[in-house]
Amino acid sequence: MEREFANFKQKMEGDALSQASNLKETIKVLQARVNELEAIRTTVTAINEDLKQDLKDTKSYIATANLELETIRRNHTFEVDDLRRKHRIDMDDVQDRYRKDTERTRKENENAADKVRKDFETQIDKLLKVHSEELARMEKQLKTEVEEEQRRRAHEVHQLQTEYGLKIKNVGLEVDTKEREAQLVQGELINVKWELDRERNLKVALQGQLSEATAHNLTLDAANKAMKAKIDFLESDSQAQSQAFNDLHRRMQEAIEAAEVANEKLRQEETLRRKLHNQVQELKGNIRVMCRVRPTNTDTETDPAKISFPDSDADSKEVYVQGPEKQSALGNVTTATYSYSFDRVFGPQSQNGEVFEEISQLVQSALDGYNVCIFCYGQTGSGKTYTMSSPDGMIPRATAQIYSEATRLEEKGWRYKMEGSFVEVYNETYNDLLGRSEDLDKKKLEVRHDTVKKTTTLENAVTVTLDGPQRVEEILKTASKNRSVAATKANQRSSRSHSVFILKLVGENGITGEKSEGTLNLVDLAGSERLEHSKAEGVRLKETQNINKSLSCLGDVIDRLGSGKEGHVPYRNSKLTYLLQYSLGGNSKTLMFVMVSPLQAHLQETITSLKFATKVHNTHIGTAKKQTKV
Ligand code: ADP
Ligand code: MG
Repeated sequence: MEREFANFKQKMEGDALSQASNLKETIKVLQARVNELEAIRTTVTAINEDLKQDLKDTKSYIATANLELETIRRNHTFEVDDLRRKHRIDMDDVQDRYRKDTERTRKENENAADKVRKDFETQIDKLLKVHSEELARMEKQLKTEVEEEQRRRAHEVHQLQTEYGLKIKNVGLEVDTKEREAQLVQGELINVKWELDRERNLKVALQGQLSEATAHNLTLDAANKAMKAKIDFLESDSQAQSQAFNDLHRRMQEAIEAAEVANEKLRQEETLRRKLHNQVQELKGNIRVMCRVRPTNTDTETDPAKISFPDSDADSKEVYVQGPEKQSALGNVTTATYSYSFDRVFGPQSQNGEVFEEISQLVQSALDGYNVCIFCYGQTGSGKTYTMSSPDGMIPRATAQIYSEATRLEEKGWRYKMEGSFVEVYNETYNDLLGRSEDLDKKKLEVRHDTVKKTTTLENAVTVTLDGPQRVEEILKTASKNRSVAATKANQRSSRSHSVFILKLVGENGITGEKSEGTLNLVDLAGSERLEHSKAEGVRLKETQNINKSLSCLGDVIDRLGSGKEGHVPYRNSKLTYLLQYSLGGNSKTLMFVMVSPLQAHLQETITSLKFATKVHNTHIGTAKKQTKV
């Protein structure tokens, strides 16, 4: 323990010694630092003293400066005040002087002006005086001059008058001479003319005599030859020849008689044929309805409707149209197939030639003296104009048939006069399609009826005498030109108007004395599509109303006629039926073609058209059946 303690004590003493020496060292360093700081403080105190002194100096300097400044400002104020006062005095002075100057100048000016005015006035007075004197002098001079001139002129006029009098007298004499000469020349002219006429007449007479003489000569020649032949023949002295000659002569006479009998028989047969033909036509029905479905244009039309022709191999009287699809509440889809039957149905393959076969019988009726109306009814684009007016359409074919038939009938004594007109009914007014295009919609065309003769005349319309087949081409060309002119006025005019080609056929038989007067009307109706009134306005609305009205009126008239009942037929309800009134009733023949466009897009219009046609057809046929397939 003691050793341990001694170790510890030794250790502790060692540590304390080193610590004490360390502290002594530190104290020594700090003492040096204190001395240093003491020295700095002394220096700073000295500087502070200096600064204080400086401050005091500066303050006293500022005070002095302030004092000086105050003095200067006061002086300055005084100076300014002085200057202002001086300025005011100067100004007053200047103003005073200015006023005085102005006043003086004004007075001076006034005086000067006065003087100038007075000077001027005296001068003007002087001048005026001089002028008026001058004027008076000049007036006087002028007067004398004018008087002199007048005298001179009067003298000249007198001279000229005498000269002209002489000249006129001479000219009168000359004119007289010339007139006499002219009269002489005229007399000579008349003489010459008269002589010329005489010469001409003489020439004609001589020519006539010459041709007569030539003919006579020829006849004489022929007679001479015949005589010679006869002499030769007689001289031949052949009994057999003479017999043969007589035989021949007799047989010829017989043949002529037989021909005469045959001709007479033929004429009777023709009259009979007319009667029978009409009977056949009446049996077929004076009102006929046929349907024509045009082909689709494979280049542009891709949505054909489902239209079929169940009896196309047999009678060709039926057409089936599949209606639109309908869905029931249970989800069953049904389509109705509508069937229609007419006097004849023409499918898409049919040609204008086949269609004309049906019409040709009616054209014959018109030649036989009956009135005939052929209508094409249907929506725009269904083929009405193609059927009627195309180069091989009904109009050219009908006229061609009329020409050839008229020629044939000439042998039987018939002579025909044929006149064509082409009329348009647009917005319930008549237009002449053969007139001048400038007159379209302007020149009034009137329709007049002779209620006794039951004939219709068109006043102010151009009527073309059909003296050759080329006339029809001309008529169709003029009409289509006029329509295209009108088309620029109101779009698509041709489908918004009815056009009526009227052919009047007047026949007379010089042998039998029979007469016939028939009219063939070929009507291209306005498009039957029903435009909703709400969608049309202005011109279009008026057109639509007029088309609807006239088409339904046509239906009513045919309905009424077909019913066979006596009584009032409403021809007057539209301009179209009014125009055609004598070609619709009585023993007239009516054929209506309902034209059908084969497109699905036109289905609704197709069904509407077929319904309309069925109604017309049924007036004398009975009710068509309607089938519904599921
Ligand atoms: P619509 O006069 O009824 O408005 P269009 O006669 O002008 O109709 O016919 C419309 C189009 O169909 C025309 O291009 C016409 O040439 C054509 N077309 C009409 N019918 C026939 C047909 N039977 N055969 C061939 N093309 C036809
Ligand atoms: Mg047309």
